[in-house]
Amino acid sequence: MENIFDTHAHYSSRRFDADRDALLTALPAGGVCGVVECATHSGDARAVLALAHRYPFVYAALGIHPESLIEQDAATVAVYGGDWRAELDALRPLFDDARVVAVGEIGLDRHWPIPEEEQLALFEAQLALAAGLGLPCSIHDREAHAEMYALLRRYRPRGVLHCYSGSAEDARWLAAQGLYFGFGGSATYKNARRAREVLAAVPRERVLLETDCPYMAPEPVRGTRNDSRNIAHVAAAIGTVWGMAPQAVLDLTAQNARDLFGL
Ligand SMILES: [Zn+2]
Repeated sequence: MENIFDTHAHYSSRRFDADRDALLTALPAGGVCGVVECATHSGDARAVLALAHRYPFVYAALGIHPESLIEQDAATVAVYGGDWRAELDALRPLFDDARVVAVGEIGLDRHWPIPEEEQLALFEAQLALAAGLGLPCSIHDREAHAEMYALLRRYRPRGVLHCYSGSAEDARWLAAQGLYFGFGGSATYKNARRAREVLAAVPRERVLLETDCPYMAPEPVRGTRNDSRNIAHVAAAIGTVWGMAPQAVLDLTAQNARDLFGL
């Protein structure tokens, strides 16, 4: 396999502390041609940038994830006392770095008890930031479809709905609006009927592959620490829906990633 482009990864996670450099060094030989490494707050943004400078196939996305509003060890809480506006100001100069290709990971999350008004304001501020910088967004939407879609209709950002979990019906208008859809391990799970419906409904030029590693390892390695090489399993699952060879799925989706991120 070659041309594996992982559009959403978290190699800065402490779950890679023991072998991060050995693993990243091994990825190209495992077929990986690109990785968009996503920050979740200002505390990991510099680590994300460092990886993007050390490895030519790694690109950076910077942003404040909604969960950072409540995680005690996130910089949003630990350093800025929940003042995400101050944190976003501090983060802003890092976007001058040429290795930054997106604003992310940003979004809405109603799975965790995150204050509604604050996360909406944080997300809107980052959509405005992305528009001002001319960058696409890597968007997290967990159990918040209605609020998310209202904002996407209003702000019309460029970007990808990472780990897309909405319906095929919504995917059609989101695609028509220019958005991309990220698929990872969950598209290989037994109950992935909805993902298969979406994959059949949207233009193939709008589909991206991703890990969200260290999480979301696909079948047949589900439950293990994930890394970009496992995307080969996701490509195989999508290939069965599209009637395409896994390598053709990888080739197509890698080009889609280059189109969105301007590479
Ligand atoms: Zn993520």
